[in-house]
This record gives sequence, C-alpha cells and structure tokens, in this order.
Amino acid sequence: MKFLVDSMLGKLARFLRIFGFDTIYANDLTEYFEIDPVPDEKLIDYANKNERIIITKDYPLYKNYKDKSIFLIGEGIYNYLHQLNKEFGLNFKFNIKNARCSICNSPLNRVMSKSSIKDLVLKDTYNNYNEFYQCTNRQCKKIYWKGSHIEDIEKRLDKT
Ligand SMILES: [Zn+2]
Repeated sequence: MKFLVDSMLGKLARFLRIFGFDTIYANDLTEYFEIDPVPDEKLIDYANKNERIIITKDYPLYKNYKDKSIFLIGEGIYNYLHQLNKEFGLNFKFNIKNARCSICNSPLNRVMSKSSIKDLVLKDTYNNYNEFYQCTNRQCKKIYWKGSHIEDIEKRLDKT
C-alpha cells in the first residue's frame, strides 16, 4: 500500500516512512510539477497513475478522489495513525530493516562497517549503538539507528 500525503500532514508523512510505508509528501512534488502549491487535480492525477492512496485533511480533495483516499478527522499524529489502522488495518510496528528515509522516502541499507560512518553521527551515538542504516539516496545519505526516540514512539503506540 503506497500513499500520497497532503501538504498539511508533513509529520505524518515522516512517520509513515519510518514505519516502512512508501509515502510521497505533496510538498515534495512542487519541483516536479513546477508549481506551489500543487493543485488538487495534479495530485489526484499523480496518485492515480502511481497507484497511491491519498491521505488528506482537505475535504474537497477527498471528495474528488473518494474511492482511493481517506479523510482524517481531528488533530495529532497518534490519532491519525489510529484512523489509518482502522481504515486499512495498517500495523505500526517499527522494524528498522523495513524503514524508509523520513526525509526522502528512499529505502535504507545496513551499514556494514561501522567505522565508515564515524564522522557522520555524534560520538555518543557512535559509541552506544552497533547497528546503523543509511539512506540509499546519494543526495541524502541520512544515517539511522534504533535509538530511544523510536522506543518512545512504540510505547505510545502500544497505548493507543
Ligand atoms: Zn534520504
């Protein structure tokens, strides 16, 4: 299941990527379409061609693509994840091997030699963790590890 998330839901887009869902953020398409903001018709056309479900808080956008979109109600990231779980049965269990880059949506690769990323993370992080992953996008190359931040997210999700 692949998603296109509207411009009001940037944080949700980052969460979905971290949980391994292929997610395009509408604001990341402004360069592709050379227009900002990207008009609804273009978003719908893009979602349709690329078989993406639109996640939106914009009722007119939802209405024009009803069969393949979800209209989120209320506020708050955990509330949104709960609605996605109810609608699509999505399971938000973090597995770093399946995670995608929260910045650019590219898959991650395991870093084989820890020393190769020594200069790219803080010293404490380097010393406290042994398993690192890196974004496969050459322009991004962001480093990931399973730190306390992810554990906090998991705990909160368990309660919702
Ligand atoms: Zn990236």
